[in-house]
Amino acid sequence: MKRTVETVNGPVTYTLTIKNVKNLNLRVGPDGEVDVSAGPRVPPEAADRLIRDRSGWVLRAQARMRSRNVPAVSPDLTRGPEVIFEAVERLYPLVAALGIPKPEVTLRKMTSRWGSCHYTRRRITLNRALSAVPTECLDYVVVHELTHFLCPNHSAQFYAQLAAFMPDWARRRSLLRTYEGLLRDRSGL
Ligand SMILES: [Zn+2]
Repeated sequence: MKRTVETVNGPVTYTLTIKNVKNLNLRVGPDGEVDVSAGPRVPPEAADRLIRDRSGWVLRAQARMRSRNVPAVSPDLTRGPEVIFEAVERLYPLVAALGIPKPEVTLRKMTSRWGSCHYTRRRITLNRALSAVPTECLDYVVVHELTHFLCPNHSAQFYAQLAAFMPDWARRRSLLRTYEGLLRDRSGL
């Protein structure tokens, strides 16, 4: 039975299986799937509570599994925020050539997104955790946000423009998804 619970770390969906076990067992599988097995007398709410109590651990385990599926890459925690500013400097010329003034760049710790574009205020906000992802993913986020100065929404026109700047943006975005555990990382990032 699939259940979804709201936790302090966002919603977690898990599969609850009734087994001949004494209490509750929680595990995260190789694809990041969350399984709880519970004895026949254990109410489902107790499984929900377990997920809520251990949501931080679940997310860390999922991030670990995901990065294991992509063995060539692991978060690089040695780079500082300067790599993010460098990426903006390197990539801004793409839109400068189209008459877009240089935006102000703000770095923030964000838990649900990698970046955002306040195009009316000429500002982009980038997640500090981007310093830990591969440069190809960091560049994707920067180009995505810069493209919003040309197309504020996510219309077909936006994606056409993004593809013109960065033909392999979708591959980079998929790779970036394997780092989503960093968004909820409570360490210094
Ligand atoms: Zn966007």
